[in-house]
Amino acid sequence: MIPFFRVSERIENASNKALDLCKEQFAYIDEITEYNQLKVQKAFIECGISETHFISTTGYGYNDRGRDILDNVWAKVFGAEDALVRHNFTCGTHTLATALFGVLRPGDKMLCVTGTPYDTIHNVIGITGEKMGSLKDFGISYDEVPLKNDRLDYDAIRNAVDDSVTMVYIQRSRGYELRPSLSIDEIERVCKIAKEKNPNVIVMVDNCYGEFVEKREPTEVGADLIAGSMIKNAGGGIATTGGYIAGRKDLVEKCAYRLTTPGLGREVGASLGHNRELYMGLFYAPHTVGEALKSAVFISALFGGFGYDVTPKYNETRHDIVQSLGLENPESLVAFCQGVQSGSPIDSFVLPEPWDMPGYDSKVVMAAGAFTLGSSIELSADAPIREPYYAWIQGGLNFHSAKICALLAAQQMEDKGLLK
Ligand SMILES: *Cc1c(COP(=O)(O)O)cnc(C)c1O
Repeated sequence: MIPFFRVSERIENASNKALDLCKEQFAYIDEITEYNQLKVQKAFIECGISETHFISTTGYGYNDRGRDILDNVWAKVFGAEDALVRHNFTCGTHTLATALFGVLRPGDKMLCVTGTPYDTIHNVIGITGEKMGSLKDFGISYDEVPLKNDRLDYDAIRNAVDDSVTMVYIQRSRGYELRPSLSIDEIERVCKIAKEKNPNVIVMVDNCYGEFVEKREPTEVGADLIAGSMIKNAGGGIATTGGYIAGRKDLVEKCAYRLTTPGLGREVGASLGHNRELYMGLFYAPHTVGEALKSAVFISALFGGFGYDVTPKYNETRHDIVQSLGLENPESLVAFCQGVQSGSPIDSFVLPEPWDMPGYDSKVVMAAGAFTLGSSIELSADAPIREPYYAWIQGGLNFHSAKICALLAAQQMEDKGLLK
């Protein structure tokens, strides 16, 4: 019997069956978690981290040792020459935009080889949005290579990367699409092809949702620049805001000039007491990502067992933490999100309802009972109320907590006569 919560016998049996199915994937995830934990730990030791690195600075933030050494630890972990880790990156989009504006110049060309990128990047590039100061407004052109049957089209990439291309842009995670996410092996192959065609090309990877899911990061297989958000994988559920950029030293330097200002770059920026949580977040990140992966695998096994379409399947190798769930009708999407929310540690009493979220063309329902607002390394679910009625689920600070949320989601659907 499941203590403290009401879960029907049918769902409890399904849960036990799902857990059984997960064993092999869980063992695989444990192996990756341990590898990455040791990688992070070694970097901390090599950089001689001590309590003095947590000391806060104010004002200009000159000589903030904790901030500067954190960049070194980060670079070591990501196998990069340099890194820029800052609490004042406001979100993933801001971090990616800083990197793009940091290294691209008027007349340059950006080529995305993973189809159309994540929604919030459209305004940055200038695919949508008028006169917001996009790359396009500054004379930077954009092109993309569509995916072929949801996979990288290596031949088309080879053809598209010529001397006119300044940057090849790769989105590692599927984001909110049904295509598979990219493996590090696939990213490595794109890097090779791109450099063969144009040795000067900059390969940049949107690393959101991908950190610590595999043993290697894109910067270890040929990517020149990566960026990500601290309220996803890289912040371990501890960081409360921020982002990071890592990669080639000259490029990271340019990004620092863009984040603050030419001339000042990384020398300024008070850490305001954020250093400790950024260090601790990195320390926790491999483990938290492991828990989020286990949560996703379990949800896939459970709802796959009920007969719903799930991607990835429980036994597929994962390259990001996102799980999608075809719930088939609007009522089930709402019940699912309400069930997840009801088991969350924060805001459990809130009843999610579909609403017209800015920037979306249909209503969206979401569950987000998180310690950090909008954090998606914590268990969260989003579902646009439109065909084919999929929910996107990601995160889970710990498996047991995410597991009960998944069971309560199923229970909510069963209570409403919706569970298959
Ligand atoms: C989350 C995410 C981003 C950035 O989104 P923010 O909400 O601004 O942090 C960009 N790309 C991908 C693939 C993402 O998952």
